[in-house]
Amino acid sequence: MAQSPAVQTPFDIALSDRAKAGLPSAVRKIFRASQRSGIISFANGAPFLGALPFGRLAEDARRAIADQGSVALQYGSSAGIPQLRRHVVDIMALEGITAHPDQVIVTAGSQQALNMAAHATINPGDVVFAEGPSYAGGMAVFTSHEAEIVHVPSDSEGLIPAELERLIAETRAAGRTPKVLYTIPNFQNPGGVNLSSQRRLEVGHICRNNGMLLFEDNPYGLLGFDGQIMPALQPDFPDITFYFGSFSKMFAPGLRLGWVMAPASIHEHLINIAETAALNPAVFNQLLMSAYLDDPAWKETLDVYRGIYKAKFQALVETLETVMPAGTSWNKPTGGFYLWVKVPDGIDTEELVYEAIERGIVYVPGTAFYTNGTGRSELRLSFCLPSIDEIRKGAAILGELFTEALAS
Ligand code: PMP
Repeated sequence: MAQSPAVQTPFDIALSDRAKAGLPSAVRKIFRASQRSGIISFANGAPFLGALPFGRLAEDARRAIADQGSVALQYGSSAGIPQLRRHVVDIMALEGITAHPDQVIVTAGSQQALNMAAHATINPGDVVFAEGPSYAGGMAVFTSHEAEIVHVPSDSEGLIPAELERLIAETRAAGRTPKVLYTIPNFQNPGGVNLSSQRRLEVGHICRNNGMLLFEDNPYGLLGFDGQIMPALQPDFPDITFYFGSFSKMFAPGLRLGWVMAPASIHEHLINIAETAALNPAVFNQLLMSAYLDDPAWKETLDVYRGIYKAKFQALVETLETVMPAGTSWNKPTGGFYLWVKVPDGIDTEELVYEAIERGIVYVPGTAFYTNGTGRSELRLSFCLPSIDEIRKGAAILGELFTEALAS
């Protein structure tokens, strides 16, 4: 295979402080390995697409061009097309959010929305509190804006309010600004945990009392295995909440569509920021997404997905029970894509991931989800993408690897 040419520059490019702060993580290397053909990947948070109505989508795509080509292929509104924003309002209503389409900004995935919100609110040195562990891509956004991440210890009900209060006080005492709480309240990535109803209120009040913003990142909320939906935090704290939604997990990430709803005073600023990066989200993709949502059958497809993910989760846990060395534990998510596993001392998940790749499987070591160097005795297993057979086979390989590592 031809090598890509190494381009030499005659001088060292002077990187901005922002770019230096956002150095790519070791995880990239692992994700690259997960693209290898034949590997069983527990690494990717990529949805299983096999149950989508491809024929219908192809027809919608054809129609978007045939009937509305001069709209589909033109520049569009920077906040997104109105019909998709109306669908977003209906989707958020499922979680108890009352909104007007004009409050919604459609983005190229919630990742772009997170970056816009960080751009709008974070000054270098500000502190962003995040669950420990938390979504690596979210933390990468905040560190690239030169924020410091402070992890809030979590348990089976999500992040612990008393710990948040303690850490805010410590931050103030150190002369730093507590700015944002970044939380993934439903089927958290990577911990699989739900923030309990009681704690939703407690953490919201703590943020408000401390003049902090609440970033509610919710790509998995509609993916409860049994269709259960938790109410959002936003309705109780509309003055401080940025709510982030995504079509990536409930539909497909290839269209790159998500959204943000921000406190009213920030809305126009966010639109300005969005325009500097992308002018507007892709109109063709939005028309396709909108056409998909026009047919109420999308909810039935979502039900099919919930069943598929539940079965995959069960296959994973059943296998782990029989193959993992004693002392290994995991949580019991009730939805989403992820299982969070803790292994006994003597197993270093970061070191062993390369051996795992040699043996044909890949996972994400726990260290990827903390910015403080912890996590070597933890790992995230995504059960969304591999088939049930692959899950059984892959988990058996993992069990063997960890059992050998403990014995050696
Ligand atoms: N937030 C969380 C918690 C995620 O897990 C992801 C994707 N893995 C994103 C945001 C970004 O998703 P997207 O840009 O595809 O909407």
